[in-house]
Amino acid sequence: MMLCDIGVNLTNSRFKEDLFEVVGAARSAGVVKQIITGTNVYESQAATKLTQQFDGVYATAGVHPHDAANVENDFAEQLKSLYSHPHVVAVGECGLDFNRNFSPPEAQKSVFEAQLQLASEFNMPLFLHERDAFDTQIAMLKQFPRAFGVAHCFTGDTAQLKAYLDLGLYVGITGWLCDPKRGDALREAVKYLPLERLLVETDAPYLVPKNVPGKKRRNEPKYLSYVIDVLAELLVVSSTTIAENSWRNSHQLFGLNTNA
Ligand SMILES: [Zn+2]
Repeated sequence: MMLCDIGVNLTNSRFKEDLFEVVGAARSAGVVKQIITGTNVYESQAATKLTQQFDGVYATAGVHPHDAANVENDFAEQLKSLYSHPHVVAVGECGLDFNRNFSPPEAQKSVFEAQLQLASEFNMPLFLHERDAFDTQIAMLKQFPRAFGVAHCFTGDTAQLKAYLDLGLYVGITGWLCDPKRGDALREAVKYLPLERLLVETDAPYLVPKNVPGKKRRNEPKYLSYVIDVLAELLVVSSTTIAENSWRNSHQLFGLNTNA
């Protein structure tokens, strides 16, 4: 069983000491491809560098809404220089997060819009983040009819899932699904997620799936199969079916090389 973790934060300081072991353990667990999430220009540059150190490791390049207020004037130019790199496969993580407004909504909107433009200019998929900003986010996406990509770490309800599917987006499912305390709406929603649109991700080091045995404080890409198992149960298919479909979808959306 070969797996691709489409969202892993390998540049996070919690992986600094043992990054080689983490990537190796993931490979041994079948997670032979990973896409590192770039959350601002600096992190995206660091993520891009890491793709050169490991086989099967890719990166996104973009600015997370939390970082929108901190961008330099030429951030779009800096991102552009990363998009020609063969292992940079998406624009993002980008979008809107009005939950605590770490950046003011106006800054978030303008930085998101710039990235929507970059994605269309480079014909690249978007790696989308959204929290408490669904209506504004969907309205902005609709202004870019050629936009395509993934709603990463989707935690919404059935209506939101269907709206994303209507836009042609893929949907990324994390260990949020495995948390009996808070995943109810999501567990209901995924029943409407077609196999040809699903992607799986750990969002490591965050969101340890609750079905991982023991009390783990740090999530790792090697735990991806725990997300897959819960998804399989809810969709009433085998874990192999989820694995095969998410593998194929990852390659299709991000244009990954099937041999490397
Ligand atoms: Zn996110």
